[in-house]
Amino acid sequence: MSASPTTEAATLPGQGMLGVLGGGQLGRMFVHAAQTHGYRVMVLEPDAASPAGAAADAHLRAPYAEPAALSELAAACVAITTEFENVPAEALRMLAARRRVSPPADAVQVCQHRAREKAAFAAAGVPCAPHAVIDSAETAASAALAPLLPGILKTASLGYDGKGQATVMTLADLPAAWQALGGVPCVLEQRLPLRLEISVIVARGADGAVVHLPVQQNLHRGGILAVTQVPAPDVPPALAEQAIALAGRLAQALDYVGVLCVEFFVLQDGRLVANEMAPRPHNSGHYSIDACDVSQFDLQLRALAGLPLVAPRLHSAAVMLNLLGDLWFPQDAADAAPVTPDWAAVLSLPGAHLHLYGKAEARRGRKMGHLTFTAADAGTARANALRAAAVLGLQAF
Ligand code: ATP
Ligand code: MG
Repeated sequence: MSASPTTEAATLPGQGMLGVLGGGQLGRMFVHAAQTHGYRVMVLEPDAASPAGAAADAHLRAPYAEPAALSELAAACVAITTEFENVPAEALRMLAARRRVSPPADAVQVCQHRAREKAAFAAAGVPCAPHAVIDSAETAASAALAPLLPGILKTASLGYDGKGQATVMTLADLPAAWQALGGVPCVLEQRLPLRLEISVIVARGADGAVVHLPVQQNLHRGGILAVTQVPAPDVPPALAEQAIALAGRLAQALDYVGVLCVEFFVLQDGRLVANEMAPRPHNSGHYSIDACDVSQFDLQLRALAGLPLVAPRLHSAAVMLNLLGDLWFPQDAADAAPVTPDWAAVLSLPGAHLHLYGKAEARRGRKMGHLTFTAADAGTARANALRAAAVLGLQAF
């Protein structure tokens, strides 16, 4: 009998409890994937009501860095992952001393800080935007920054969905823009001429095996992901291969174990430039739940549990629409009461897969769910997604 490709330390399906740091929607979808495979899941999350906490078998209600809670998590779980990159790296290290933890704390720490992240891109030979670190009034006033303008000033840490960013047109505007972001360490990036945005999700196992999802083409509105299309309609195969190779190279350079998403810009001249990376499943990979035979959450689970990583196969064309809280407020009035979108109309469309994250309150800009359309061909998926967008009052794409 041939040996199983699992490592000795694999936690087989149905055996034991897995842990997740964080209670958001990414954690919730991981919980679903893990439970489907027969695992129980414990979520560490301070909020009483959270998308992942509500789905988990056990909810440990405590701050992410509380030693007693981490100790309890390590005692209860055979392996632990995180659903967001701003978990204290020290918490991951503490857990890793006792249990299998993926992604590794060092890689998470790199992803927490835009300057470290760009240094990691450079070290792996992955091109990124010309940039400079701004961490003092002196650096903010430096004339040497002129070649980076017009630029985008981004806080080095804790930015997401376009928050913590400001466009800076001239050197004279820079000191005030830096102060307006709180005078915290920032990265000033040259504003690049984008043709389009794509992302690549790879998963790497402890044995170094790397698999990937197909390249995703992403449309952002107001700094927030709005639409993901797979197959990427405007990405030639050679460019897709290049992006996949770069993402794999990064995972290897970081000695990464788990799911890693790398966001790329495709410039007007066709060049590929890495924007940022996330040490976890990504919003642009949600379509994989419905359109692939192995989803990004299945990959996270497999990498965490030490199970074999198999290359996912896209079995349907997919278009994903993000469902932000704005959809619940069709009128502009600030004091308007939320109105539930017409899900019945949306679900009457062929190939609709509705995912709501169980958040009690809709707020503008808040990710409430997503809607994936699958079809045998890209044109049909897109046509149905456009019909749904019209029903929901979303802009066409
Ligand atoms: P996320 O939610 O993906 O973590 P974020 O807040 O970290 O978002 P970025 O990904 O850095 O923000 O930027 C958000 C969007 O702003 C990008 O997807 C892109 O559309 C635009 N953008 C960011 N940096 C640049 C740049 N250097 N040149 C041109 N456009 C940019
Ligand atoms: Mg981004």
